[in-house]
Parts: sequence; C-alpha cells; structure tokens
Amino acid sequence: MAKDYYKILGVSKDATADEIQRRYRELVMKNHPDLHKDDPNSSKKMAEVNEAYEMLSNPEKRAQYDRFGTVGPEGRAGYGAGGFDFNDFFQGESFNFEDILRNFGFGGFGGFAETRQRTAQNVRQRGEDIQYPIAITLKESVLGTKKEIRITRNETCTVCDGSGLKPGTGYITCPTCKGTGNVKSAQRSIFGEFIVQTTCPTCHGLGKIAKEKCSSCRGTGVVRAQKTVEVTIPAGVETGMRVRIRGEGNAGLHKGPRGDLYILIRVEKDPRFEKAGNKLYYTTRITFPKAALGTTIQIPLIEGGYEKLKVPAGTQNNTELIIRGKGARLVGDRRRGDLTVKIQVDVPTRLSPKEKNLIKKLGELQDDQKNS
Ligand SMILES: [Zn+2]
Ligand SMILES: [Zn+2]
Repeated sequence: MAKDYYKILGVSKDATADEIQRRYRELVMKNHPDLHKDDPNSSKKMAEVNEAYEMLSNPEKRAQYDRFGTVGPEGRAGYGAGGFDFNDFFQGESFNFEDILRNFGFGGFGGFAETRQRTAQNVRQRGEDIQYPIAITLKESVLGTKKEIRITRNETCTVCDGSGLKPGTGYITCPTCKGTGNVKSAQRSIFGEFIVQTTCPTCHGLGKIAKEKCSSCRGTGVVRAQKTVEVTIPAGVETGMRVRIRGEGNAGLHKGPRGDLYILIRVEKDPRFEKAGNKLYYTTRITFPKAALGTTIQIPLIEGGYEKLKVPAGTQNNTELIIRGKGARLVGDRRRGDLTVKIQVDVPTRLSPKEKNLIKKLGELQDDQKNS
C-alpha cells in the first residue's frame, strides 16, 4: 500500500509549497537523530519524513502522486507491497543531515554545527576577537584620544607563514579519509544499514595533513606574541561602550582572517566636572557680596585653560549659567554641548569681628528699608 505522504508531514492535500517546507523544517528539528540517540525509531521517522518531503516538494512528483497515489521507479517511491527500502531511497548517497540543515538555514543549531561538513575553505578559521578594557579620563572621553595598548595575541607564524608546515615540506593526503575530508560509517536501522558521513577527525575536512608540522607553531600556523596596538578612541564614548578595531584581534588558524579587537571603555570620574549626555556641569561658589553686586569669574574648561563668566548682580543661590559649546560630545557628533555652571552663594560661617560688624550694619540697613 502506498504511503500517505500528506499524513506523514501532517499537512492537508492542498497545502502550499511554503507550508510543506515549513512543516518539514519543524519535523527535521523534532526528529533529528542527534536529539534522539537512544530512540532507534527516530531515523525511521526521519526517513519517512524525508521521503514525503522529497515527493511533495517536487511539483511534478507531487502531481503524479496526487493522481496515481504512487510514483514510478524513477521517483524512487511507491513500491507497493514490498514497502520502502531505505538504501534504495538514498541510492548510495550518504545520509547527511548537516546538508539538510544547511539547505534550510539551520546553521547554528547547537551541537549540529560540530558535525557540519567542512570544506578546505572553512578549515580556515577566523581568529577570535579580543576584549581589552581600558579606563580613560573624562577629558579623553570628551575630546577623543589615542592610546597605545600592549596585548598578547595570536600572530601568524613567520616560520611557516601560517601554513603549519615544516619549511620545505608539503602536505600528504590524509590517511584517515583518503583525501575526501569526510569519513563514512555504517549505522544500523530497521531498514538495514545506512551510511552516516562526518568530517574527518584527522584533517578536519581538509583532506590533507602536514607531512611534518612546523615546530615553531606545532602545526597551527599561529604563535602567541606581544603586540603594541595604537587605538583611536572617538570623542563622546561613555562607560560601557565598546570600540571595535577591525582586524586587530587574533590571527586566524590556517590563514583564516583576523578577529577584531574590542576596547571596553570605562570613563573615570572627574573631580571637577560631571557629564550627562553632551552636557558638562561645573559647580562654583561665590561670596554673598559678589552675588549681590555681580562679578566676573574664571571657569576651568575640560580641555584646559579658563573661560571668563559674567555673574550678574543679584544672582541667587543655585543659579545655573551656561557657557555655550564647552560641554561634552556625543559619539559621531562634531558639535559640543554646553557647560552649565552652577553658582552657589556662600553664607560665611566664621566671621572676623570686623566682618560681623559690617554684616550687622547691612542687616540693620535692610530692616530699615523694609520698614520704611
Ligand atoms: Zn609555523
Ligand atoms: Zn582526513
């Protein structure tokens, strides 16, 4: 009896191609043999699902199946009473789950990636990124800065130029996989044996191995080395930000591309200024007479130097005055925000007899003015 492929996939007879594909992906995820190592039925289920999908995802085969309830020998299915032969179905092709997963974009699904079939191309491994924390001053964060940092990282081995080969020697064909990069092993199922293909553990899929390994890097193509890197910290960075320096991470294995260097920023507290966004804040104290009469004071700037600030007569405690364009910066913004100067008016705590006298007189004078 022919199988009901629609039932196997759990879709209706008028399911669209999209639905069929979506359902198939779900079933692949659910029945992947890696997830059901102890369940001998999981490969059987997957075989059925694959068979059904192969049939229903192909418009011609699907039309033929819909019409005749079976598909001829070319279709490799519908063998009547004899049932379905797993080996026939795959006709010597290896049963490679990773290919299925890749075809459907299952790339990074946990452990599956480990057994992903490799080509010579992806034996080249991108070097790892490096994280490097640094502390900078508030001034450096506002104005931007350059830093020289010393890091230990993987460098391409100069003895073998990253190949991992002992100089003057070459590759030999991998004896484990005979150059194919894959190894096949037979697995038993109730349908009989079928073949599982995995990446060769000896050559990691390259198909060849060093005849003799470079003694300097032990065949990896990279060596640890100290390196000084000049990094540019852009103006406006704040604590918690990361600055990426492309291509300054670890050298890749087997001539793979370099990783990146990430500078993790911590901005130290400044004794004078506080920062919020693109604004800087500075607090200064003036005496009561100066607040009353008005004055000009010198305000320090984060970049160094001073700016004169006019404090108008009658300035109250906690008045905020603005110096335009002398604040901080946001990353990517060339303009600087403002510097806010908070004026605190001092009430004197220790007075000389003469000061006491004068203030007394002032008080009397002000009482008289109020009463008159
Ligand atoms: Zn080397
Ligand atoms: Zn091999």
